[in-house]
Amino acid sequence: MQGYCVKCKKKQEIQNGKIVSMKGKGKVKRQALTGNCPKCSTKMFRILGKEQAEEMARELKKAA
Ligand SMILES: [Zn+2]
Repeated sequence: MQGYCVKCKKKQEIQNGKIVSMKGKGKVKRQALTGNCPKCSTKMFRILGKEQAEEMARELKKAA
């Protein structure tokens, strides 16, 4: 999955992606993908929608 790298100032494929859960307001639980830029290793972060999170979880499971 791609994310925006602030250092490269462009989209990069997120490497070593990991899904993390964050608590939002009220009972809302949000999921995000964290990882590193393949070019400069800068930490990248992308908020995931419910469907995106499920898709990403499947991909990570496949890759493991
Ligand atoms: Zn970068």
